[in-house]
Amino acid sequence: MTDTRWDDLQRGDSAVIWHPYAPAVNGPEIFPIVSASGVRLDLADGRQLIDGMASWWCAIHGYNHPTLNRAVETQLDAVSHLMFGGLTHPPAVALAQMLVELTPPGLDRVFFSDSGSVAVEVAMKMAIQYWYGMSQPRKHKLVALRNGYHGDTFGAMSLCDPVTGMHHLFGDALSKQLFAPAPECPFDDLCTDNEMVEITALLSQQHQDIAAVIVEPVVQGAGGMRFYSPEYLVKLRALCDHYEVLLIFDEIATGFGRTGKLFALEHADVVPDILCLGKALTGGYMTLAATLCSERMCSGITNSEAGAFMHGPTFMANPLACATAIASIQLLLSQPWQRTVQRLQVELAHGLAPARTLDNVAEVRTLGAIGVIELKEAVDMRTVQPMFVDRGVWVRPFGKLIYAMPPYIMASADVATLTAAMVDVAAHL
Ligand SMILES: *Cc1c(COP(=O)(O)O)cnc(C)c1O
Repeated sequence: MTDTRWDDLQRGDSAVIWHPYAPAVNGPEIFPIVSASGVRLDLADGRQLIDGMASWWCAIHGYNHPTLNRAVETQLDAVSHLMFGGLTHPPAVALAQMLVELTPPGLDRVFFSDSGSVAVEVAMKMAIQYWYGMSQPRKHKLVALRNGYHGDTFGAMSLCDPVTGMHHLFGDALSKQLFAPAPECPFDDLCTDNEMVEITALLSQQHQDIAAVIVEPVVQGAGGMRFYSPEYLVKLRALCDHYEVLLIFDEIATGFGRTGKLFALEHADVVPDILCLGKALTGGYMTLAATLCSERMCSGITNSEAGAFMHGPTFMANPLACATAIASIQLLLSQPWQRTVQRLQVELAHGLAPARTLDNVAEVRTLGAIGVIELKEAVDMRTVQPMFVDRGVWVRPFGKLIYAMPPYIMASADVATLTAAMVDVAAHL
């Protein structure tokens, strides 16, 4: 690799940039990308990679999509950013209407923010402010599931799996939340009452202190890529109602079709009190997130001492992002996307199946456009990442997981290349 642009970018990067979850100095190799279109990332040395990650669940329509490009350009000529205190604009209104319409009845009001973690912080604050407004200020703790992931800011981090989220590194600075076991019931099975024993005990003993339970419905993403029975959500909803605890669904990863339904909650037909959206909301173009809640929540918060919801990110409801989100959702809904996700599920399952015979593989699983090879041992990123690049695909494993969640537009031949590379890398570890 003697390409000077490649070398300059790598050198420049390593001199001044932090990458996520990586050492600043002598970290694993970083790969420079100069452009992307469709499902292909263009490396600075002219090679191309088939993108199996959709840039962390986001780029559902692939890169450089003409429809999304046009949406950005059109909005750029109107206005690119406005403060949202006291002002509104057409893309915000249209997008909020769209989200209220697409989500189940009972999620009627939208708070925009600028990232998934902030959408989770907003959900937490809404739940706590609600109980304050209901004269129950003691109800301020949250219950989360083990193996969960809800973001990296302090509030969101306090809800992540305490072990993989490395809570011990932050000591007393992190709020102490309550944790229930991750559901063990498989996606296509029922959920026995056994599954609910610990969380029921938690709620029955401490509901006076609990504002809400937060879960990622059906798919636990960055905390383990685990799929579980939708029936768990039905039982959880009943439990929360019984003990007067709010239910928050974090659909930041699962929203917009990834699991085969537009929202994962549709697998269970369960409506939460608060819903967090992000990631694929703008088709991966812009940073935007949303927290939806019921009118009952709104009036509770309005009755609280503040009389208002106390949050306001500078870049909330950014017009470029809202306009792109509208275009992305319209683009998704204008196609037979369920069939596309179904095709991807079949192709991922077929392509990854050979990994089942490998000694170092614990499990292979797929749901919607998500394909996972779970290994018996954690991978070494320094060795595994270049192995994927050498095979012409972009897959970024973590822990014991080699997984893909490709852009929905990925052609069958590219899925075959992607899954073959995943199996081949697993075979060579
Ligand atoms: C990615 C993710 C978040 C955090 O979103 P950011 O935009 O990275 O802040 C929260 N919850 C879930 C389920 C996620 O997958």
